[in-house]
Amino acid sequence: MFQAFLIKYGEIGVKGKNRYVFEDALADRIRQVLKDVEGFFRISKEKGRIYVEAEGEFDYEEAVAALQRVFGIVGICPVVIVEREGFEELSSHVMSYVREMYGGQKKTFKVHTRRAHKGFPMESMEINAELGGRILDEFPEMTVDVHKPDVTIHIEIRGRIYIYSEVIPGPGGMPLGTNGRSMLLLSGGIDSPVAGYMVAKRGVYIDAVYFHAPPYTSERAKQKVVDLAKKVAAYSGPIRLHVINFTDIQMYIYDQCPHDELTIIMRRYMMRIAQQIAEDTGCLALITGESIGQVASQTVPSLAATNDVCTLPVFRPLIAFDKEDIVTIAKKIDTYEISILPYEDCCTTFVAKHPVTKPRVDVIRRSEKALADKIDEMVEAALASDEIIEVE
Ligand code: ATP
Ligand code: MG
Repeated sequence: MFQAFLIKYGEIGVKGKNRYVFEDALADRIRQVLKDVEGFFRISKEKGRIYVEAEGEFDYEEAVAALQRVFGIVGICPVVIVEREGFEELSSHVMSYVREMYGGQKKTFKVHTRRAHKGFPMESMEINAELGGRILDEFPEMTVDVHKPDVTIHIEIRGRIYIYSEVIPGPGGMPLGTNGRSMLLLSGGIDSPVAGYMVAKRGVYIDAVYFHAPPYTSERAKQKVVDLAKKVAAYSGPIRLHVINFTDIQMYIYDQCPHDELTIIMRRYMMRIAQQIAEDTGCLALITGESIGQVASQTVPSLAATNDVCTLPVFRPLIAFDKEDIVTIAKKIDTYEISILPYEDCCTTFVAKHPVTKPRVDVIRRSEKALADKIDEMVEAALASDEIIEVE
């Protein structure tokens, strides 16, 4: 029945000159996700609207699912497009539309006409009243409610006439590419993929870094991170994943530093290395899945001690989220089932029995002095170990 979609997007931040940047980025991303959907699609922008029109047969379900992953879209309206002829022709199209969509259902409705093309012989109000009357006559179980109708039947008169009433929710957010690029510290856990998704939702391109510690962490643990990146990439677009060999640094910290401070010191080195890669690759910020109080390394003093080494902004979108709320999003974006697979990540191999929960920055800095001999060299070696995986 439908051969097109009207795409609704949020109005915030799209005023003035930015509007074109926003709309172009949205249209580009729509084009990109529809490439993988069966069918040929034409995307057009017209006076504050974006239309996706299929040429010939297409997979409706797949097209909707793809559009529901495009940030910036707030609503997807399946549209029937008819030629602009006289009122009788329009009326007959609208009657078949209503029959198909709501025939036999007890719905309240109203008709809302927008006449962008003034060539049509009747005014909007007149069209509303006349079509409303005919719908009542033809579908006696339907009644009019102009204030809170179950169904609003939109008629848009342009070069052609667009008829729609259904709005399928989109993910909201901002179109990708409208807000620069950031580096996600991606582990195999539940939180970091969700953090990446949330920042990407604000229009930010994502790259990622994973600290791998073979043989303490297995190839399967690494594959798990690649699989998670794939799930996030369905929303965020391609992710360049950097896999860094962290084993020597981890062992060295383990040998040289107090064991209750291991996690904090290790996290400081992760941040330093991630930051270096970010700077080398044009990322303007870091992203982590940290959340206050979740584990010993995420108390406020621990977060402060970790953040002490960062000069780039660190985005922690989950900082005040409860685990339950994070899990809800993880399930929605389909990362949860992968995240709970049991393969160890590099933090669990080297955790102390009683990690500090109130580290002092000056104490941690002093402990790190024990690494002075070899750490710079090791950081260089870790950076050189960078294995880049392009995740689509
Ligand atoms: P997650 O579920 O995201 O793994 P977590 O609750 O296990 O989080 P931590 O292990 O303390 O928390 O890690 C905090 C954050 O540090 C993670 O959200 C992630 O951004 C980053 N991180 C932890 N381990 C790694 C790793 N091996 N590689 C890359 N980033 C990591
Ligand atoms: Mg983790």
